[in-house]
Amino acid sequence: MLTLETSIENLTKVGKTVASRLQNLGIFNVLDLLNYYPFRYDDFSTLKKIKDLQPGDIATVKGKIELLANKRSFKKKMFITECFLSDETGSIKATWFAQPFIAKVLKNGDEVYFSGKVDGDLFNHYLKNPSYEKVSDQTTHTARLVPIYAATEGISQKQLRFLIKQALSVVDLIEDDLPEQIKTFWQLIDLTRALKQIHFPENKAELEQARTRLKFNELLGWHLQNILLKKDVQESLAAPIQFNEEQTKKLVNNLSFQLTDAQRKSAWQILIDMAKTKPMNRLLEGDVGAGKTVVAALAIANAGLNGFQSALLAPTEILAFQHFLAFKEILGPLNLNVALLTRSKGQVFNTADNAPTTLSKAKLLKTIANGEIQLVIGTQALLEDKVIFNKLGLAVIDEQHRFGVEQRQKLREKSGDPATTPHFLSMTATPIPRTLALTWYGDLDISVLDELPPDRKKPITQLFSPNKRNQAYEFILEKIKEGRQAFIICPLIEESDKLGVKSATEEYQKLKEEIFPQLNIGLLHGKLKPKEKDRIMAEFAGGQTDILVATSVVEVGVNVPNASVMIIESAERFGLAQLHQFRGRVNRSRHQAYCLLFTASQAEKSLNRLNTLVNCYDGFKLAEEDLKQRGAGNLLGLQQSGVWNFKLASFADTNLLEQTKKAADLIASDYPEFMQRLKDTTVIHPE
Ligand code: ADP
Ligand code: MG
Repeated sequence: MLTLETSIENLTKVGKTVASRLQNLGIFNVLDLLNYYPFRYDDFSTLKKIKDLQPGDIATVKGKIELLANKRSFKKKMFITECFLSDETGSIKATWFAQPFIAKVLKNGDEVYFSGKVDGDLFNHYLKNPSYEKVSDQTTHTARLVPIYAATEGISQKQLRFLIKQALSVVDLIEDDLPEQIKTFWQLIDLTRALKQIHFPENKAELEQARTRLKFNELLGWHLQNILLKKDVQESLAAPIQFNEEQTKKLVNNLSFQLTDAQRKSAWQILIDMAKTKPMNRLLEGDVGAGKTVVAALAIANAGLNGFQSALLAPTEILAFQHFLAFKEILGPLNLNVALLTRSKGQVFNTADNAPTTLSKAKLLKTIANGEIQLVIGTQALLEDKVIFNKLGLAVIDEQHRFGVEQRQKLREKSGDPATTPHFLSMTATPIPRTLALTWYGDLDISVLDELPPDRKKPITQLFSPNKRNQAYEFILEKIKEGRQAFIICPLIEESDKLGVKSATEEYQKLKEEIFPQLNIGLLHGKLKPKEKDRIMAEFAGGQTDILVATSVVEVGVNVPNASVMIIESAERFGLAQLHQFRGRVNRSRHQAYCLLFTASQAEKSLNRLNTLVNCYDGFKLAEEDLKQRGAGNLLGLQQSGVWNFKLASFADTNLLEQTKKAADLIASDYPEFMQRLKDTTVIHPE
């Protein structure tokens, strides 16, 4: 008997190898299969008579197989399978390459559907590599809207469809717990029907309804979690932190620059929040290079001056180290102890002294626990059980959108006072238009740094077609000779190559072996272990590598001021917001930055979109533009930045985003049991 929890290994035709490949796709059991939605559909629903087929048509024909045979192409030593398909109006040739087994699966005289694209000229039509299936009422691969899944090497579409069909036989075991009233009011179909239709839609209208229902679930879930988070904060107490005006002024006056108005305003909002007895729950949104660090520093300084400790969580060890150095500068005028806690060791300095001292991790943990340290900088490792604070008043998380429930819980437990919750500040460079942010982050207060410091040179951004690539390489070489470094960003080429390993690796090989054998080149992609990534980034940050070939993993907060050139390959594949994030990586110093966008695309829409980036340097404007143009690239960009973790919903679903907000508020007020169940079972936001 199948259940939703049945492991894939127990399904028909799944052996060890197939199981491990499915696991690579994140599929472990029947429920995972049901939740593995197609990313597109082949529309093979149009049935045509053979005499009506035209080259270019995408269609299905029903007929009888004749003259089926395998041949060998002499040149390519490859099998070609050929046959004719006949109906009462005529016959058409079908050809398959390198799939000799087809001659075993199909037989002369079989009644079949062939689906695919018609090739050929006016007189001579044929079907190349058509999908085929014996005639039945319930087709899977032909004569319908056929689902196409993100597959992986060694797993075919046919296999996935076959397995998902098995899984669908128990889809009714899924409980649709959405209250009937909500379903009726918003005209939503049942969850089980939606799941059936998302995989094997009967028609486009059914598919649309299925998508709406599933998107509704995704967005509703998000809003409900926000509501839970907000409630959690409202019910907690925090220790108030008073604004120390005199010392704060001293800090600000000591900076080597003037704060922008946006920085002043945001800092002020934060300091007001922290003086309250409710924990702050604020997001500081600011474009790349807008200067979020110094704003956080003012909050941290005030916590320290009030006798409280702060924790700063960075996404990587490199960034933690960079913050460690930055805080040494900023907090200089105060007498505070700042520590860096990494996997391997600890470092501490007093802001009034010069050189940091290294000490053992055990020793450092002791000084944190007894309150000698006012600011601890580190990665998520700060959340480990052995890190105990004496009096934690403020927690700051960089390049993330929020503290999740679990992180909050951990910090509360280790804060030294279980009765209070630390103030929370999140910082992100992902510019989400303000109106959207308010709906999206229902639980958070938002401060925005909407201006860049005035001294910034704009990065020179330009579009190039592939025939300019060699000149671009020469340009890079020139800059490297001047002492600079360069990034080369590669896109994800295939759906199946989710982590972009393939394209980046190929580019890396080419540069290393053919183009720049004399230079040191690094390679960074999503499949590397965190430790490896850190090492490669450290080598680049330290100047040991001249060029870093990378996938979109470089997006987050890395600061390598010496890198001033960036090439982005197949730029049309990225969303504007994401391209802007990349570009921010090379705009962090006095060196003029260059961003070379390569595209082979001739499509007017893509070129227009890329030209927006050439002419605009404002992340928020670009995000709005992205939203307006509603490209799928936008979705991709935000997905990778962790903001948007949905399979179907996107920022373009503005109406549904608002409708689900209403539904969530309704559920929160009228369906206490639903909320309780959610609270008991929920895993709050993926971040
Ligand atoms: P981000 O918002 O991307 O985290 P950072 O805080 O790292 O940006 O700041 C980027 C750089 O800008 C740092 O070198 C910082 O010292 C500098 N900076 C911050 N604020 C200002 C300002 N008001 N004027 C000039 N430079 C500034
Ligand atoms: Mg930053």
